[in-house]
Amino acid sequence: MRITCPWCGPRPLSEFTYSGDASKTRPKNPEKASLDTWMDYVYLRENPAGRHQEYWQHTGGCRAWLIVTRDTTSHEISNVGLATPQAWDGKK
Ligand SMILES: [Zn+2]
Repeated sequence: MRITCPWCGPRPLSEFTYSGDASKTRPKNPEKASLDTWMDYVYLRENPAGRHQEYWQHTGGCRAWLIVTRDTTSHEISNVGLATPQAWDGKK
């Protein structure tokens, strides 16, 4: 599997570190969020078969944080973008 870093171009998977599900968004009002909301945000993850958005970091290169859209059944990557602060908030 190769990931095309927006800064470095196509690079081998060994240069990247998987950093989790990119579909989760931090609770809007952290102080008012319930324990169940925090449990869901921190611990609960889906295990989808198909397209999935994931955080990856180019740890062996420019160290950029990326959002990679990958098909979990074929490992086909359909999109790679920088993980901007807006993306972290789910506003992509
Ligand atoms: Zn890079």
